[in-house]
Amino acid sequence: MALRTLDSLGSLAGKRVIVRVDFNVPLKEGVITDDGRIRAALPTLTHLLNAGARVIACSHLGRPDGAPDPKYSLAPVAQRLSELLGAPVAFAADTVGAEAQAAASGLNDGEIAVIENLRFNPGETAKDETERRAFAQQLAALGDALVSDGFGVVHRKQASVYDLAEILPSAAGFLIEKEVDVLDRLTENPARPYAVVLGGSKVSDKLGVIEHLLPRADKILVGGGMLFTFLAAQGHAVGKSLLEADQLDTVRGYIAQAAERGVELLLPTDVVVAAAFAADAAHEVAAVDAIEVTPFGADGIGLDIGPDTAARFADAIRSSTTVFWNGPMGVFEMSAFAAGTRAVAEALTEVDGLSVVGGGDSAAAVRQLGFADDQFGHISTGGGASLEFLEGKKLPGLEILGWEN
Ligand code: ADP
Ligand code: MG
Repeated sequence: MALRTLDSLGSLAGKRVIVRVDFNVPLKEGVITDDGRIRAALPTLTHLLNAGARVIACSHLGRPDGAPDPKYSLAPVAQRLSELLGAPVAFAADTVGAEAQAAASGLNDGEIAVIENLRFNPGETAKDETERRAFAQQLAALGDALVSDGFGVVHRKQASVYDLAEILPSAAGFLIEKEVDVLDRLTENPARPYAVVLGGSKVSDKLGVIEHLLPRADKILVGGGMLFTFLAAQGHAVGKSLLEADQLDTVRGYIAQAAERGVELLLPTDVVVAAAFAADAAHEVAAVDAIEVTPFGADGIGLDIGPDTAARFADAIRSSTTVFWNGPMGVFEMSAFAAGTRAVAEALTEVDGLSVVGGGDSAAAVRQLGFADDQFGHISTGGGASLEFLEGKKLPGLEILGWEN
């Protein structure tokens, strides 16, 4: 069955619509350092407001311990949202208490309120179903319908994501609709050739994704910290690079599976080896069979893919019609080791087809390197949620909206 979309809710004018968004933005001393998630919620919020709905927006922020904690207040988010909408945004300093009730009932058509952090209430994330339900009932009292648009939390069976969607008439917002549409094109009948580019820190974080996408892809490109476990599996010495010895057999299995299925597995031919894990560490390019044959010997640490590899990867990406990329190619946070990630990002912007960036650090990397969101087909807003979707898992927050995978 397909996802229930906004039109399934009928006329929105005068309706009190609770919108579950993902306003979990990074904060530094109370200041929002990246408002991407607030911007991602705007299409749905604007649509509802223009249609005359009375909007009650709710979200979690950080991991407060089921109790109010000023550090995780949504007040700065409400402020920023008001700036982005160019309209007043009411703010309730509680989630389902007197303030929230007053804020919800005080709305006129086309007005919006933000209620305080859902996770200030233990019921939001409670494992106990009765406790979770009770909190969802309190939330439900604030509205007539639910629009679920926090893609970043759809893999969680939580009160506002799951139970509330069962209590009130509910539908997916535009963000969830777009995420599901794009991620589905990466798993079902992708336009070929289809390249999957994997990096990041550990192979053990990505086993589910590799297993699900390997049989579906035409090419798999491996960079990032995980590449060293692949190189070690092929018998190369990797110095002090990130190596997961307990995954060697698993990785050998992937190499064999790729060969059997005729999936092209592109592994690095050269890497950037550094004297230490530090931004100003001495470093040089080494072939993958000579990682320990630099001035740093067996102490060398591989922190990026090398220039030959970056060029090969860029070619393989540009010549694909569907590309999914998760995981930086190197320690992009240090400029000396960002070239591989930059080259891959650049190549994705040149894809004639669908290019998708997934993963929290990967999204941060492309923005930090100066790319604009619209240079890519899609940058997923869900770290864990998009990976679980691509692992083929059933996500409670999507199933409850009618989605079946
Ligand atoms: P994402 O959040 O996009 O899924 P990950 O969390 O898996 O990505 O990995 C991101 C991290 O991987 C980055 O902080 C980056 O510094 C690190 N990384 C990339 N290459 C290496 C490497 N060669 N050695 C150690 N860490 C690496
Ligand atoms: Mg990460």
